[in-house]
Amino acid sequence: MCPVCGLPKELCVCQEIAREQQRISVYSIKRRFGKVVTIVEGVDEKQLDLKDLTKRLKSKLACGGTAKGGRIELQGYHKARIKEALVEIGFSPEMIDVK
Ligand SMILES: [Zn+2]
Repeated sequence: MCPVCGLPKELCVCQEIAREQQRISVYSIKRRFGKVVTIVEGVDEKQLDLKDLTKRLKSKLACGGTAKGGRIELQGYHKARIKEALVEIGFSPEMIDVK
């Protein structure tokens, strides 16, 4: 059951609404030893299942990644594809800020 609306998970649209309203930013950084990671920031963990979102992004982008401290860290450079992947999951294109 959903803790927000009290409906069974299959009827609940809270996650969908939360996704549409979520303003997120994406950027890539170079880590030590030249490793590039793509960071997704701004996801509200209280409203959205960050672990589930990470899992979906990893499978869509075919990469490794972790969720920690409200951020998703994906291995590799995904700025070209990540917006499309986020929109497919249900985020609004105008709310995604790719830096
Ligand atoms: Zn709900």
